[in-house]
Amino acid sequence: MSFVPPGTGWPDDPATADTPVALDPADVKRIAAAAGTIEELTAAQSVCRACPRLVEWREEVARTKRRAFADETYWGRPVPGWGDERPRILLVGLAPAAHGGNRTGRIFTGDRSGDWLFASLHRCGLAAQETSTYAGDGQRLIGTRVLASVRCAPPANKPTPQEKATCFPWMSREIALVAGTVRVVVALGGYAWQAMWPALKEAGYELPRSRPPFGHGVEVEVRHGGSPVTLMGCYHPSQQNTFTGRVTAQMLDDVFSRAGSLAV
Ligand code: SF4
Repeated sequence: MSFVPPGTGWPDDPATADTPVALDPADVKRIAAAAGTIEELTAAQSVCRACPRLVEWREEVARTKRRAFADETYWGRPVPGWGDERPRILLVGLAPAAHGGNRTGRIFTGDRSGDWLFASLHRCGLAAQETSTYAGDGQRLIGTRVLASVRCAPPANKPTPQEKATCFPWMSREIALVAGTVRVVVALGGYAWQAMWPALKEAGYELPRSRPPFGHGVEVEVRHGGSPVTLMGCYHPSQQNTFTGRVTAQMLDDVFSRAGSLAV
């Protein structure tokens, strides 16, 4: 099988067989704009087929699998935003991993980056469990939501500019729908930092004219609806970064404990 059909019992599957399917960029714009709730939006995200190259790749990976997961069913669909529906902290990543989120159906779940991320979130009081291995494992984010700026696993972790642009309305609409409660936005890596600014603007944030450079622990105060919101940079807990020590557990804890204290 190349993907899990919507509404067939996968834990936390937001979609049903009736969820509208976006087939091109115009559909993404229209369906994202029409989504009045996070439930509607995540359902539609999770069945999107607007990027032919990414649809083919995610389903090919789901069919062929990695040997270690040969007995598992892969999700093989876009990975929607996940977590608190009225979050105070929003985490923004790049894209799901081919054998992580594309397998488990949940963002950062079942891959090495997620191991680091969820362990730190748990130590900082933002996740109920220290591990996140499969949808339905009891993991829960606390006052926190995670989304990816591109919802499908891309070959070599590199979405094209066209794919980033096509997926953009899913992110900007999700940011807009939760903006009323969000007090801190954390970008996981430089690409997420770059990607989130136009989405924040689209969602009604008042932003500085020049975009400050990305860095670990960088903080920028902006406003939304008159309320202060802090944007923070955090190095991505990728295997490359954690192997080389560019990111340590302490560094992640520093950012997430700071985010937690700002969000109170
Ligand atoms: S990357 Fe985004 S727009 Fe493209 S198919 Fe996946 S969910 Fe749809």
